[in-house]
Amino acid sequence: MIARVSLEIALRKEFDYSIPPELAGQVDVGSRVQVPFGARKILGVVTAVAEESGHANLKPILKVIGAQTLVTPKVLKLARWIGEYYCCAPETALKSVLPEAVRKEDAGWRERLFVRALPVNGEFPKLPKRQQDVWNIIEERREILLSELVELAATTAATVRKLEDRGLVAITSEVSERDPYARETILATQPLVVNPAQAVALEKIKEAMDGQKSEARNPGSDLRPLSSTFLLHGVTGSGKTEIYLQAIAHALEQGKGAIVLVPEIALTPQTVERFKARFGSGKLQTLVAVLHSHLSAGERHDEWHKIRQGRARIVIGARSAIFAPVEPLGLIIVDEEHEHTYKQEEAPRYHARDVAIMRGQMENAVVVLGSATPSMESFYNCKRGKFTLLELPERVDDQKLPYVRVVDMRQAMRDGKGPPLFSPQLKEAITQRLERGEQTILFLNRRGYSTSLLCPKCGYVAMCPNCSVSLTYHRIEQKLSCHICGHNEKVPSVCPEPKCKNPAIRFAGTGTQKVEEVLAKLFPKARVKRMDADTMKRKDDYRHVLGDFRAGKIDILVGTQMIAKGLHFPNVTLVGIIYADSALHQPDFRAGERTFQLLTQVAGRAGRGDVEGEVFVQAFTPFHPAIQYARRHDFVGFYEQEIEFREQLKYPPVSRVALLTLKGRNEEKVKFSAEHLKRELEKILGSAAAPAAIISAPADDAGLFDEGVKQDTRGARAPQKNLFRDLIIAGPAPAPLLRAENFYRYQIMLRTRAMSALSRELAQIIQSLKLPEDVSLVVDIDPVSLS
Ligand code: ADP
Ligand code: ZN
Repeated sequence: MIARVSLEIALRKEFDYSIPPELAGQVDVGSRVQVPFGARKILGVVTAVAEESGHANLKPILKVIGAQTLVTPKVLKLARWIGEYYCCAPETALKSVLPEAVRKEDAGWRERLFVRALPVNGEFPKLPKRQQDVWNIIEERREILLSELVELAATTAATVRKLEDRGLVAITSEVSERDPYARETILATQPLVVNPAQAVALEKIKEAMDGQKSEARNPGSDLRPLSSTFLLHGVTGSGKTEIYLQAIAHALEQGKGAIVLVPEIALTPQTVERFKARFGSGKLQTLVAVLHSHLSAGERHDEWHKIRQGRARIVIGARSAIFAPVEPLGLIIVDEEHEHTYKQEEAPRYHARDVAIMRGQMENAVVVLGSATPSMESFYNCKRGKFTLLELPERVDDQKLPYVRVVDMRQAMRDGKGPPLFSPQLKEAITQRLERGEQTILFLNRRGYSTSLLCPKCGYVAMCPNCSVSLTYHRIEQKLSCHICGHNEKVPSVCPEPKCKNPAIRFAGTGTQKVEEVLAKLFPKARVKRMDADTMKRKDDYRHVLGDFRAGKIDILVGTQMIAKGLHFPNVTLVGIIYADSALHQPDFRAGERTFQLLTQVAGRAGRGDVEGEVFVQAFTPFHPAIQYARRHDFVGFYEQEIEFREQLKYPPVSRVALLTLKGRNEEKVKFSAEHLKRELEKILGSAAAPAAIISAPADDAGLFDEGVKQDTRGARAPQKNLFRDLIIAGPAPAPLLRAENFYRYQIMLRTRAMSALSRELAQIIQSLKLPEDVSLVVDIDPVSLS
C-alpha cells in the first residue's frame, strides 16, 4: 500500500510514500505522518491511500503521529477548496485547518507529560541556580508541558525530574482535561417559549434540517440551490440567540453536532455561558467545546480532541472553529455574519462565513447567518434567491429601539479651539443619567489619547517614518507610536519643523484616553472605566470590567469596538458616539457600510432593560446616508441606496474582487512589476478589448462563488475567455497605505462575477510569473479591507 502525502512545506505538490508493514492499518486519509524528504524529516498529512503508485522506489513513511486521524476526509476536501478558491498552496490551506497545538509533533494525546507545581509545605528549599530557573517558570505557569518547559528553560528533563524528587512538582502523563470554564458553576436553562416571529424562523430552519439527506440531492455535481442557507436578520435583542439554541437542540435530537461561529471580540464569557447553560452544565459538561485565541495551547489541544472524539458535539469559537472536526455536522451558525474579523488576514486568506457556506454544502448541514446589520453580500444573496431571508423585526417583549439623536458637531465648534469632545446635549444627558443612577456607554473608534500630533501654526503632523500614516499619541507612556508597524518615538516638546519650532504643538483628534480624562474633569464624582486594547491586555481584564459594570460599580464605560458587541446591560440607558464620522473618511468602498454597521450595533447597546434607551450620535457630516439610516434603524433603506452605488461601480456584492498587492523595498521595481503583471493579466484573461460595462453572465446562477455564472466547477476546463467578459482590471495604483513597514505597495484590483474561475486562472498566471527577487505578490480574494 502507498500513501499520498501533502507536506507542510508549500510546494503545491503531493508525494507518494510506501506504508511499511509495521504501520499497516495505522495510516489513513487524514493521518499526520513524518516522512523523509531529501535529508530532512518533514511532517505532512495523508490525502489518499492507494494500492500502488506511478512512481518507483518509494521511501517509507517513518512514523504516524497520534492514534487518530486528525483531519477528516470532509475537512480535507474543504481545505482543498480553500487552496483553490483563495489561490494559495494546498499545503497552506491544510495547515490552517489544524490548530498549531494539535499539529505539533509532541502534541499527541498519549505522549504528553505535564509538569505541575505542587503546594509548598513549610520553607521553600534553596535550589541550585538551574533548578531555580526552571522552578520560576513552573511557578508562573503553574502547569506546563514538559517538552515546552525544557525548551523554554533551555534545560533537560533530568533537571525537571530533580524538582520532582524534591516534591516541588508533579510530572504526570494522564489525560488531563483543562477546562477553561471549570471554575464556574453554570445554572442550566430551559428552552423559552418562542414568540410568533421566532417560531416562523425556527420552523423554516428545522424544516431544512429535516429535509437534508445524507446523499447530495444532485449527485455528480457540487452545485445545488442553496436552500439550506439562511440569513437571520433581526435587531439586537430580537431573540436570534434563542433560535440558535433551539436549532442546535434539534441537531442534537438528530444525532448531529453544530458549530457556532462568533467574532473573536464577541466571544465573551457571557456568550459562552448561554450555550453552556443550555447544553453543557452538570453531567453534560463536555458537550460544549470552546475554541478561541485566549486558550493556552494545552487547553486548545484538549478542546479539539474532545470534539474529535465525539464527546463535544457543539463547538463555539472564532474564525478557525469552522474547521472543527464535528461529525456528523447538522448545523453551522455564523453570528454577526457581517463582521470583518471572519476574514483571515494572512494566507490562507479565507472568509470563515464563506467557508461555512461551502462546508454546509459539502456536508449537507444547514447554515444560519445571523446579524442586525447583514453584510451587503448576504442580503444581496437573499434578494437573488441564493439564501432564504428570515426576519425578526422586533425586540423580544416589545422593547422599543432606542431613540437616536444626531448632533451636528459643526455647530458645537468653538472658535479657534477645534471641536469639543462633548456637545452640550450629550453633557446634559450624561448628567441626567448620573443623577438617576443609570449607566452610560461612550463609544469611540480609536484607542490612545489622541490621534495625531499636529502643529496648528505650520500644519506639521508627526508621521511614521515607515508607513504613510500619522503616529498616535499615548499620553501615559509619553510616546508616539505607529499602529501599523509598531514604530515608537518620544514626544517632541516643540514643533520639529526647523523653521517653526512652535512650542504650542497640539494633539489633534481624540482617543479613548482623552475622553476618559475630559470626563474626569466634567464629572469628577462619576466612576469611569476605559475599555480598549491598551487597557485590556490580560486574559481576565475584560471579564472583570464587565462584571463591575454589571454590578453597578461603574457609571460610565468608555471604549472602542470592543464594547459594541453582544453585551446586555439592562441599566444602560444612554449611549454616546463621540465622532461618528471618523470611520467614513477612509479610502475604501465599504466605509459607508462599516459606519452604518458600527452605529447600529453601538446604538443597540442602549435600553435593554425596562427604561427606554437614548443614543447621541455626534457627527460633522450629520446628513450622510450611513448616519441617517442608522438613526432610523433602517437596514433595508441603507441597503437600497448603497446597492445603487455598488452597481454603478461594479463593486461587491455585484461582483467579486481579487486584490493583488506587490510589495518591495524599491518603489521603482514594485511599480514596474505591477505594470508587467497588469499586461500579463490583460493578455491572458483577454479582457482588454471588452468594454467593462457589459455584464453578460446569465442570471440563473447556481454557482456558489461565481456571481451569475453557470459552470461546472470541477469538470475539465474549457477555454473560458468569454467568462471574463465582465472583468475589470483597475490599477496598478499605490496602496492606500503606500509604505507599510518600509515596503512600497502597489495594487491591482480585479473585479468579476466569475471568481472561482478567475482564481484558477490566477493560480496559473502567478506560477509562471517572473518577479524580481525582492518583490513579492500577495493575492487576496474577496478582501474586506483595501488598505
Ligand atoms: P439577539 O441574539 O437577537 O440579540 P437574544 O436571543 O439574546 O437576542 O434575546 C434577547 C433577550 O430576550 C435575551 O435575554 C433572551 O433570553 C430573551 N428572549 C429571547 N427569546 C425569548 C422568548 N421567546 N421569550 C422570552 N424571552 C426571550
Ligand atoms: Zn509604521
